[in-house]
Amino acid sequence: MANKDLGLYIHVPFCRSKCPYCDFYSIKYSASTADDYKNAVLRNISAYDEVFDTVYFGGGTPILLYNEIADILKQINLKISANAEITIEANPESTTKEALEILYESGVNRVSFGVQSLNDDELLALGRLHNSQTAINSIIDACEIGFKNISADLMLGIPYQNRQSLYHSINELAKLPITHISAYMLKIEEGTGFYKNPPKLPDEDFTSDLYILTCDELEKNGFFQYEISNFAKRSFESKHNLKYWDSEEYIGIGPSSHSFYGGRRFAVLRNLREFIEMPLQNIYITEENPKTFDEWAMLKLRLSKGILFDEIGQFGVNKDELINKAKIIPKQLINIDETGIYLTKEGFLLSNNIIEKLIF
Ligand code: SF4
Repeated sequence: MANKDLGLYIHVPFCRSKCPYCDFYSIKYSASTADDYKNAVLRNISAYDEVFDTVYFGGGTPILLYNEIADILKQINLKISANAEITIEANPESTTKEALEILYESGVNRVSFGVQSLNDDELLALGRLHNSQTAINSIIDACEIGFKNISADLMLGIPYQNRQSLYHSINELAKLPITHISAYMLKIEEGTGFYKNPPKLPDEDFTSDLYILTCDELEKNGFFQYEISNFAKRSFESKHNLKYWDSEEYIGIGPSSHSFYGGRRFAVLRNLREFIEMPLQNIYITEENPKTFDEWAMLKLRLSKGILFDEIGQFGVNKDELINKAKIIPKQLINIDETGIYLTKEGFLLSNNIIEKLIF
């Protein structure tokens, strides 16, 4: 691992308001805290003597801090390798042309927009502050400014969604200059607004149908599925996120961020005040020795390429035993060929059950 460039994730914990389904760590944006936060990020990055080939500003709504992010990139320039993928998450309501221009000039080369839907009634029910036209305009602005790698998030199983409305969102998105789509199913998490006041949602079977529709429609539009929830035009897969599923190391900076570094997995508390005040972020270990076959295989099976037989030798796993376990799983859920074992899109829907049968 020592000579390999790492991923750098920076959690930006500010939003304009809290969406009722969200359990990411974020607080209300305040300009006065943003500068202290930036200094804490820089202090923490300087503690690592590493070079990064992917940098990902996630949140929260990182684009709110576009000036601070441009400054961070300037100051850590020597730690970023040439041709690094540098991503920022952007919510349409907080995106301005000025912000996109400054970020583009500072080296950001990938923008991931939190579109979620291109139907205004669905966006309203999700508590989003943007409407479909704002989302479309942001994507067009990013393209005109020069961004060639633009991603959009889409949500499945949300209030008011039906086959037709999802079909509309997908096909309108596909007409835009985007290269990548992440499609997530809504999950109601404890402690969120939706947990306290649950909205009326499509049932589980219907949401599974929506997932299959998404996979099929995106494929028709030239976005191939490379992970359970991720689709890309050829060679536009997220290099940063692939590090997670390929069990490569990365460093997380900021409250609630996670890291896999020096052979250990660790995380930072969800507390911005503490992050700002501590000389270095306070970490707690989440996994002391994560390099097991179970964990590796679980992550690999999220990918369309699945488990490659060439790679299992490092864990001392017997290929024939693995194939025998895979053969018990219904054929429509899993594929076995000479290169490896991988799930079908129907298999992705039941991935937790299948993974359990296959590796435990
Ligand atoms: S904008 Fe994103 S991070 Fe912020 S509250 Fe909404 S879903 Fe959560």
